[in-house]
Amino acid sequence: MPAVEEIQEFLPNLDCGRCGLTCAEFAGFLLTRELAPEDCPVLHEPDYAGFIEALHELLGQPTVQAAAGMQIDLEKCIGCGICVAMCEFHLGNCADARLGKGPRPQDKVIFHIVNGGAVVVHQERCTRLLQAAEKCSKCAEYCPTKAIVLF
Ligand code: SF4
Ligand code: SF4
Ligand code: SF4
Repeated sequence: MPAVEEIQEFLPNLDCGRCGLTCAEFAGFLLTRELAPEDCPVLHEPDYAGFIEALHELLGQPTVQAAAGMQIDLEKCIGCGICVAMCEFHLGNCADARLGKGPRPQDKVIFHIVNGGAVVVHQERCTRLLQAAEKCSKCAEYCPTKAIVLF
């Protein structure tokens, strides 16, 4: 796992606050995968071309995302985003998701697509954990490659 300082080498280090954080704080959230390089709007500017890809390379991609109740096999995941769009929690909490779009970076999410794969960032929000009696399984049902296993 890279150090925060290594990640900061590929951030603008402007502390502009557009992400709601400082660049150092943003780097910390990249390490925990609660944010993705794409969540920094400044990195999308031409001056920073290639930085997002460099950050993904630095951070690497786990082969399996595991957490209590859910496992995503990134060998099978094709990054289609159907699970993100169909998730019951996202539909209830993200206005754009109810319009058929993906959640925005600032929305509350359980998982999002990072570098072509679904990455769980807030498993604790999953309806399966909140309402054990009526367990949801929409993400696994709609996944076209059966990459999501719920247990
Ligand atoms: S938006 Fe980007 S440049 Fe601005 S503070 Fe956040 S990480 Fe730094
Ligand atoms: S089980 Fe339901 S609430 Fe949990 S991640 Fe899947 S679709 Fe979302
Ligand atoms: S629906 Fe399945 S293949 Fe598509 S992003 Fe989600 S886990 Fe990956």
